[in-house]
Amino acid sequence: MVTYTLLALTCAFVSCTVICLCLIGSFYVPERERLPTYEWKPYPALFPVPPRVPAPYTPTTPNRRKYPVCMCLGPQLSDQMVELFEACQQQTSDLARKETCRTRLQKDIQSIYAVARLYLTGSSMNGLGCRSSDADLCLVLKGNNRPDPIHVLTVLQRLFKSLSYVERTQLIRAKVPILRFREKGSDLEFDLNINNTVGIRNTFLLRSYAYADLRIRPMILVVKKWARHNQINDASKGTLSSYTLVLMVLHYLQTLKEPVLPSLQRDYPECFYAFLDIDVVPEGPKRVPPYISTNQSSLGELLLGFLKYYATDFRWDKQVISVREAKALPKNNSKEWRNKYICVEEPFEKNNVARAVHEKIKFDAIKATFAESCRILQDRKDLNSILPVRAIINKESCRR
Ligand code: ATP
Ligand code: MG
Repeated sequence: MVTYTLLALTCAFVSCTVICLCLIGSFYVPERERLPTYEWKPYPALFPVPPRVPAPYTPTTPNRRKYPVCMCLGPQLSDQMVELFEACQQQTSDLARKETCRTRLQKDIQSIYAVARLYLTGSSMNGLGCRSSDADLCLVLKGNNRPDPIHVLTVLQRLFKSLSYVERTQLIRAKVPILRFREKGSDLEFDLNINNTVGIRNTFLLRSYAYADLRIRPMILVVKKWARHNQINDASKGTLSSYTLVLMVLHYLQTLKEPVLPSLQRDYPECFYAFLDIDVVPEGPKRVPPYISTNQSSLGELLLGFLKYYATDFRWDKQVISVREAKALPKNNSKEWRNKYICVEEPFEKNNVARAVHEKIKFDAIKATFAESCRILQDRKDLNSILPVRAIINKESCRR
């Protein structure tokens, strides 16, 4: 247990150090004034001897000793999950590319909106990204008048067409309107929104969960890959957004008899207060230590448990998933939950992040996918039986 805790602490420190170097060190350009940005510093008090930052890891064999092993499932399933995670997780160089682009964009945007600040959010920053994850951006425009997002995005669209490093700009008029674009000549895609600051708050909440236990990041990456492979991970097509899936995994881990995770909003209200000034939101995770769980389940057991929970135990018609409260809440008759197939509470705004699932046929497909994968995995105990592991690894590793 002590070794495991130390490993979890070390892991959290290394990751924070990497982010710190990315956001502070490697982007320092002496001749250009550094733009104000959020900073990321490690937890000095907890880690008197800083470990070295490892180079991006290319495993030959899964690093399975870091994770609890379950012999009843055989070590295979957990090993496969670790291997998939280690091959697909976002690399330091991927984040560096995104951050370089963010810095350039912020500078160019400030030629029009002088006090604008651009935040990298979503899986690029929350520790749950893959090599192929897009980069979500939130442009914060402070001031007395709330600007119309469509107007600002139209102005930015015009600006971006003149930038040499941006291409394929597209304005998407969704509930939260976004400007989608690519870095020129690359496969790096950006989604930029205006003042949707809840995305900054929940990014740093998710980041704290991601590093609270060593098993969280591999578990979530595998679930995201599984959902994507089974075509139930696309909110624009009426299925689950990645964000919804992440909250579903966290909820499962919070509600086990021996929880793997607590409610961080309950335990650290000062770090995740919903009206905390946006500039200090990125500080929150620094004050959250790893959670010491008594649950020693292996990754394979947790994956099977997750599929089983949503295939058979969870009452979709009666329950609301609340990561904020670390429990399932009874579904009441309010407008938010009434006649909704899936109810997942946004931890800050308390609205339904799964509202995209509004067709019964899609809801049935999601439930059927959980049931079918649960049955197959219970039977075969081989990740390849529900996911083309090798093909996914090959696809991710050919990214530059
Ligand atoms: P991927 O790696 O697939 O890109 P992601 O973590 O970036 O996954 P998305 O579903 O693309 O997840 O969402 C990006 C970010 O936008 C989330 O991390 C979250 O901060 C924010 N977000 C998405 N949906 C909502 C929502 N309904 N309410 C509030 N914030 C949301
Ligand atoms: Mg994203």
